[in-house]
Amino acid sequence: MTKRVYLFGDGNAEGRAGMESLLGGKGANLAEMSLLGLPVPPGFTITTEVCAAWNRGGYPDGLAGEVDEALAHVERATGAAFGAANDPLLVSVRSGAPTSMPGMLDTVLNLGLNDETVRGLAAKSGDPRFAWDSYRRFVQMYGSVVLGVDHGRFEELIDARKAGAERDSDLGAEDWRDLAEAFKNLIETETGRAFPQSPRDQLWGAIDAVFGSWRNERAETYRALHGIPDSPGTAVTVQAMAFGNMGDDCATGVAFTRDPSTGENAFYGEYLLNAQGEDVVAGIRTPLPLTAGGERPSLEEVMPEAFERLRAARDSLERHFRDMQDIEFTVQHGRLWMLQTRSGKRTARAALKIACDMVAEGLVSKAEAVSRLEPESLDQLLHPVLDPDAERRILVRGLPASPGAASGRVAFTAEEAEAAAANGEKVILARIETSPDDIHGMHAAQGILTSRGGMTSHAAVVARGMGRPCVVGAGDLRIDYRTRSLAAHGHSVFAGGKITIDGATGEVMIGEAPTLQPELSGDFATVMGWADEIRRLGVRANAETPEDARAAVGFGAEGIGLCRTEHMFFDAERLVAVREMILAADGDGRRAALGKLLPMQRRDFAELFRVMAGRPVTIRLLDPPLHEFLPRTKEEMREVAEAAGIEVEALRRRADDLAEVNPMLGLRGCRLGISFPEITEMQVRAIFEAAAEVLPETRVAPEIMVPLVSDRREFDLLREQIDAVAAAACRERGVEVPYLVGTMIELPRAALRAGEIAAAAEFFSFGTNDLTQTTYGLSRDDTAGLLKDYARRGLLEADPFATLDADGVGELVRIGVERGRAARPGIKLGICGEHGGDPASIRFCAEAGLDYVSCSPYRVPIARLAAAQAALKADA
Ligand code: PEP
Ligand code: MG
Repeated sequence: MTKRVYLFGDGNAEGRAGMESLLGGKGANLAEMSLLGLPVPPGFTITTEVCAAWNRGGYPDGLAGEVDEALAHVERATGAAFGAANDPLLVSVRSGAPTSMPGMLDTVLNLGLNDETVRGLAAKSGDPRFAWDSYRRFVQMYGSVVLGVDHGRFEELIDARKAGAERDSDLGAEDWRDLAEAFKNLIETETGRAFPQSPRDQLWGAIDAVFGSWRNERAETYRALHGIPDSPGTAVTVQAMAFGNMGDDCATGVAFTRDPSTGENAFYGEYLLNAQGEDVVAGIRTPLPLTAGGERPSLEEVMPEAFERLRAARDSLERHFRDMQDIEFTVQHGRLWMLQTRSGKRTARAALKIACDMVAEGLVSKAEAVSRLEPESLDQLLHPVLDPDAERRILVRGLPASPGAASGRVAFTAEEAEAAAANGEKVILARIETSPDDIHGMHAAQGILTSRGGMTSHAAVVARGMGRPCVVGAGDLRIDYRTRSLAAHGHSVFAGGKITIDGATGEVMIGEAPTLQPELSGDFATVMGWADEIRRLGVRANAETPEDARAAVGFGAEGIGLCRTEHMFFDAERLVAVREMILAADGDGRRAALGKLLPMQRRDFAELFRVMAGRPVTIRLLDPPLHEFLPRTKEEMREVAEAAGIEVEALRRRADDLAEVNPMLGLRGCRLGISFPEITEMQVRAIFEAAAEVLPETRVAPEIMVPLVSDRREFDLLREQIDAVAAAACRERGVEVPYLVGTMIELPRAALRAGEIAAAAEFFSFGTNDLTQTTYGLSRDDTAGLLKDYARRGLLEADPFATLDADGVGELVRIGVERGRAARPGIKLGICGEHGGDPASIRFCAEAGLDYVSCSPYRVPIARLAAAQAALKADA
């Protein structure tokens, strides 16, 4: 029989770390902490497989009995009984997904309270205020999470009660008792049913809700954003409550074993005195520091014994998990309880520092350190920081929650931020505090600013995970949703006004402040060096301009894998000449336009060869989808007609002749060179004349690439011309330039006929953008909306234009590799579609046996790291 319920607590556990896919991260690590002898309140975890079954239609037979047995075990361990009037067992019911999804899934606390047991709790604790507060918290949480009553309705009742009272703590036992009563009435009115009094009914209601929360919209959005699979689901952990809100010898908090922002090896965290866990996460009260040294009272000073135990737990958890941990704890009457541990989210800077420190401390090997880093997160480091010399108009200061500088127009709601971002605007999302419902706006924003909350508030944790610069807890800032403004120290900024935030210092500035590219040295260089030692795939860049090529070399590119020559013509003056060439009525007209382009191309190529200093450079012959280049407006027509010396009307007719219904499947790639050989001639000449020019300074061996081939004969025809022009150009200049001629494999037919093509081509570069487009028959340009629907309906795991479809498109790549190598064993194989910078696709490329990947310059470091991880994975 499959085991579905796993016990833990009292130094024992049926599960352990490593069982995350079955028990969720929380369940697996609670079991592991229990086995380590750390103080964990007893409980049990119901597996993710049960969630999958529930989502398919119902619980497996016999589950109820297994849960009853587990509950009896918790009763024995605690000495309390579920539903007992004198000494009630209270439990939390928590979600726990295999991959952490902070705050996205539901949780219910204080379960087991009812009109009777609340009195038992009051008597046992000797604290009626605490008991009634716990009850109203439970009814409130259960009412909103399980029964779907709007959260705001409860808050309104509390606010009405509080009118007159200064603070929460001014409310007494009677207030909370009356509120519990009012909450139950509200629930009955809203749902038509009385609040459940039976603890068992409560328990199953909560278990259903937590399993159900796997499918809520924000969880689905989060999974889609982070590429987390939809199955199996979440586990549910039911655990005896530990109370941090039973008085001033109680506390609750969150700790990181190292600083999650900088990576510094220092115990770091926050706590709240006399509070429950969700108070810390919600950021409603500003928490206090764990360690002594500042002005505010630290846990170290206030509860030295509990703190020492926590510090010991920190050491043993780090030694055991050999990674930075994010811990949740509660102190009940001076006694420490561990509620959670997991690998802590961290900024990229912190991740690199922790990796370097842990290798130096002998805690992990270089390979382990490399395998743990998230390649995508490096992106954060490659982006701008504030120019230290620039003038800053500081509006206010908050906590530095996630580094990086960001400027943009202020948006006050997630929807506003998303809409502005969709229009190509940069925005800073300003909220009093954020909730998981803001996730889409946080993603759309360049940066996030909150006036409340600490370093572990929702905003801080989520922003760090997303790599968004973030400042939280700017307490002097007044954010007013009604007037859509923020203000501090006599200055206001209204919606649409620009601000800048610096997530490394916590500063918020008025206007747009100038930024600088960051230094890529220190820990970054060290880790990249390890990755380079490990990886077997080469990493090149897709670049055309000298600036991009320089950036690419700076990021560690070993060559250029794709120079899209049509991109060299985007400049306004050149565009006219290109249009003139495309629209020329005959060979003479075309040659005249090409004559203008030749010196520009020659200069560009020479510059590129110099920047690349002997590294390989793959230059692709012109491949302009015509619709991107044909003149559209009257003004554009006039300009081109003038340059070509012909009538506008004649030009328009020619443009109409060339217009295509399916430009992506039309006169593109090698077809252009076949129809207009003068174009190929000009480009090849420019390449060899440029090579001849730089040859005295630098070794250069251009790789000329023919695009969009589907048949060997196309390639042969162009190769013959390329060889002839190359020979002529070299003869004229009296030099010998070594070169290769290869092709892109970006049509299914090319992959299938790769054997024949390889007999003539010296290298292949898989153009997986077009290969995906043509394999799926899905337009690269028009399908974003459609793909969203597909994702929502569960028809696609990932956007196939972002992550290579290993099954279909990948099959064609594998066929291309196999047939290509069979025909020409030493053939050089690469990829230059967007997938070349995507970690999952890079893993595929390594498995498929490619020699290198090529991606945009800013993704080069990501690709180096992902390539190293692919090698480690292959060796494992
Ligand atoms: C491709 O199709 O993958 C490719 C790299 O070429 P382009 O994106 O320029 O069509
Ligand atoms: Mg292409």
